[in-house]
Amino acid sequence: MERKGISRRDFIKGAAAGTIGMATMGVLGACSQSSTSADDIKWDKEAEVVIVGGGGTGVAAAAQAAMDGAQVLILEKAGIAGGTTNYSGGVMQASSTKYQKDFTDYKDDTPENHFQLWLRAGEGLVDEDLVKDLAYGAPDHIEWLSGMGLKFTSVYGHSDIPYIDKNLFADRIHVYEGGGGHGGGVPMVTAMLDSALSNGAVIEYDTEVTELVTNDSGEVVGVVATQDGKSINVKAKKGVILASAGIDNNKQMAKELAPQQFWAISNGVPMCAETDTGDGIRMAMEIGAAVCGFGGTIDFCGKTGASTDNRVPHFPAFIVNAKGKRFVNEDATYAYHYRAIFQQESQFGAPTYMIFGESSLSDEFARWTKESLDKDLAEGAVLQGNTIQELADKIGVDSENLSATLATWNAESAEGKDSQFDRTTGLKPISGPFYAYKNTAFNLGAIGGVKINTDAQAIDTNGEVIPRLYAGGLNAGGWIGPYYPGSGTAIIGTVHWGRKAGAHAAKLTSL
Ligand SMILES: Cc1cc2nc3c(=O)[nH]c(=O)nc-3n(C[C@H](O)[C@H](O)[C@H](O)COP(=O)(O)OP(=O)(O)OC[C@H]3O[C@@H](n4cnc5c(N)ncnc54)[C@H](O)[C@@H]3O)c2cc1C
Repeated sequence: MERKGISRRDFIKGAAAGTIGMATMGVLGACSQSSTSADDIKWDKEAEVVIVGGGGTGVAAAAQAAMDGAQVLILEKAGIAGGTTNYSGGVMQASSTKYQKDFTDYKDDTPENHFQLWLRAGEGLVDEDLVKDLAYGAPDHIEWLSGMGLKFTSVYGHSDIPYIDKNLFADRIHVYEGGGGHGGGVPMVTAMLDSALSNGAVIEYDTEVTELVTNDSGEVVGVVATQDGKSINVKAKKGVILASAGIDNNKQMAKELAPQQFWAISNGVPMCAETDTGDGIRMAMEIGAAVCGFGGTIDFCGKTGASTDNRVPHFPAFIVNAKGKRFVNEDATYAYHYRAIFQQESQFGAPTYMIFGESSLSDEFARWTKESLDKDLAEGAVLQGNTIQELADKIGVDSENLSATLATWNAESAEGKDSQFDRTTGLKPISGPFYAYKNTAFNLGAIGGVKINTDAQAIDTNGEVIPRLYAGGLNAGGWIGPYYPGSGTAIIGTVHWGRKAGAHAAKLTSL
């Protein structure tokens, strides 16, 4: 098969223009290259809209495109639909919904407040138009899903981000029946997939898309996939939607594009679907798509779950670096304080620890009981010292510094304050015996992907739309900043960008 598509030379020109960096070129260097040209291809099957990946974004795109009358084919690498979205709690952020009004005290919250919060959390690194589009689009998705049978039962709040105006926070995290816990994404995936299938969409499992096919005009007109051990060519008469998530389990791409994801993959506990290896990002880059938004991760402390939301405040425990000093507001939202953990561990080339005492166990939000702690001690998961000095020696941190950190903590928390980091929860003195738990990132995925516009159309390295190519959810970048801003952001993004892509692609004229 002759391979043309957009030539490697054109792509390198794009990189030289600065939209993608040399690190990106390295990633491509590590992959087998080039897209396939449509000129002489023999198509094995066709659909109007072809969706790469049947996770949250893919089934949202399929449901919307099929509702809008398009003939849809989802190609899914795994044996089931859902991807990481299945594992999620399925909770979603939105403002000014009827559920927010019914279940919370935030009767007058607005998408503008929500947008401003996400924008500030983006630290200047997000695409403002994308973030605004998402915040303003979010309420409708809750209604849309409710129309598919999801029953929303509660709405709760975000945990703190220290530098953001407290007036921008509100209870916005929507939970439906069957959602909220591990595996809570399944009812949502099922509802959207059922809707798509009932409108004529088709899903094919164990089918890995490997390449995009372009025509002489640079339009994306199909994909190459592997199915039953054979290579098949699938024509997309209207468009291709990339919904194959981020570079979650791709260590090489993480190494070259996203240092914190590389650190999390190397040292942490991977929680994402194994099949999420950044394929859609790689394939888009191969035909000249720009990428953006890399750097952040969705990391949290799986041992305590502390600070995932305002119902899970931190208990009396603080985090120290290799010098025995605190460095972050521990009750700030999880990915915010995990970014600080990553930075400190990189800076000192040594672990960080969560320090607490026997006294902490009696706190109502304690994550350990005496029993569970004894079990962890026996397994070596937690270290113990009768004095803070003994604990310092065991974890190899400066004993004087750790003693001073504890003394400051105890003096200030007794007065209910934290003058260093403005922490507000779990402020109680800590007494021994003392315990140290080595922080380990539970990685819920990487941030960053294909550059898109507000119609979820992929953008190339010259800033032009790549005709008939879309990306959504975590396959797309630019709508989440350098750290994950809090629970419920990702899933509302999968629904939003999936629906936007599906709606736009469905409207195109068939080739
Ligand atoms: C334990 C856990 C809990 C979480 N809880 C929440 C939560 O409650 N709320 C929230 O907002 N976020 C949550 N998150 C984050 C959120 O779940 C993810 O960011 C989101 O589900 C990603 O959706 P996606 O559609 O981009 O990817 P996915 O849902 O992972 O879908 C990608 C799909 O593409 C398929 N695929 C990959 N490559 C190919 C290929 N080459 N060809 C064909 N198919 C391919 C995969 O098999 C997969 O099915 C959680 C994450 C985890 C791990």
